[in-house]
Amino acid sequence: MNFTPDADQELLRDSIRRFMKTEVAPLVAKHDVEKTFPFELMKELAQFGYIGGRLSEAEGGMGLDQLTWAMLMEEAGYTWLSLRTMLNITNGPIHKLATEGTAAQKERFLKPLLASDRSVFTAISEPGTGSNIAQVQTRADLQGDHYVLNGRKLWITNGAFADFGIVVARTFSPDCQGQLSTFLVEREVSPFESRRVDTMVLRSTGTAELSFDNVKVPRENLLGEEGSALKRMLVGLDAARVNIAMGAVGAARSALELSIDYARTRTQFGKPIGSFQLVQKLIVDMTVRVEAARALALRAASALDANQSDARMACSIAKLYATEAAHEVASMALQVHGGLGYSTDYPIERIFRDTRGGTIPEGTTEVQTLIVGREILGMSAIA
Ligand SMILES: Cc1cc2nc3c(=O)[nH]c(=O)nc-3n(C[C@H](O)[C@H](O)[C@H](O)COP(=O)(O)OP(=O)(O)OC[C@H]3O[C@@H](n4cnc5c(N)ncnc54)[C@H](O)[C@@H]3O)c2cc1C
Repeated sequence: MNFTPDADQELLRDSIRRFMKTEVAPLVAKHDVEKTFPFELMKELAQFGYIGGRLSEAEGGMGLDQLTWAMLMEEAGYTWLSLRTMLNITNGPIHKLATEGTAAQKERFLKPLLASDRSVFTAISEPGTGSNIAQVQTRADLQGDHYVLNGRKLWITNGAFADFGIVVARTFSPDCQGQLSTFLVEREVSPFESRRVDTMVLRSTGTAELSFDNVKVPRENLLGEEGSALKRMLVGLDAARVNIAMGAVGAARSALELSIDYARTRTQFGKPIGSFQLVQKLIVDMTVRVEAARALALRAASALDANQSDARMACSIAKLYATEAAHEVASMALQVHGGLGYSTDYPIERIFRDTRGGTIPEGTTEVQTLIVGREILGMSAIA
């Protein structure tokens, strides 16, 4: 299998690297401390395909394949994992709206998302619902020309900032008796409460708890068919897992490069620390993990592009390995840097925190392990 980028991909990657280095990297530390996100960057990132680039040109995208998209995710993760996360939280709904939205929904929600004039969240998780998404308790009751939403959502990325979101709720109507549906919920039209939830990881992603207390959502804001949400959510998960894996590869590569530079220039006992065998072992272990993680994630992306029957397993293997490996690499990078690694004036501690944020969302490490086990053995350990 050949994952060497072609001339067009190399050109795209080089221009992204230039942009990230000059326009994004200088902003990261400040936003991480202030827990804010530079939304104005999204319009500029669109030129590289970062906003809806996977859609066809007719739909307003660039027709990028999953392999090219994986490369974009690596570069975003290399620069800032909060940025990669916010791109993910934008592009998921873009695809959902493009495939399931009505003409009116595309006009009202998809168009402004593609233009980066609006920003969005996806709310599935709840205080009592995590890995088992089928357990969602938030409910939507159809009453005349609107649904009434009641429930709470937790850990919602961009929930503190976005002006609308996709909310999954158990639905009750003459045609639907408790199956899950998705709703487009606008803060202005259907006011709901949001409370910022501070976390150790990905501090610029506006994580929030949302409360819906008799919130009226117009009937026309049902996205897709009533009762179809669970099936549709599972469809998008494989690609999301490759994306988070490639973001982790990028962050790990960044930690590795900083460590190589530091090992070459920091001297102790009259020599560069990189000349000590034990420091070389750390650098080699980091390199092996970065290379292995990238190979697994690119293999998964190419399996998705080719619609291969083992694509699901490849995506779960990539997510499982790359997110765990990235945090191990960040930890080793911290060790190479000695006391400097802990300093909040230096990027390693942020990368260390942020890489810890990959092993839980989009299916935890344990859930990925059970998916891979099921694919290998044909027996499910998940109820
Ligand atoms: C940074 C971040 C961003 C997020 N963004 C969003 C978002 O935008 N929208 C959204 O809806 N949600 C979001 N989430 C929530 C995320 O999807 C959940 O945290 C995740 O699904 C795990 O659920 P949980 O935290 O409730 O853990 P639980 O499911 O309660 O799991 C707790 C522990 O039990 C283990 N476990 C659970 N089931 C099994 C099993 N069958 N076998 C073995 N072990 C098991 C888990 O692996 C884990 O170690 C985000 C989470 C984080 C950390």
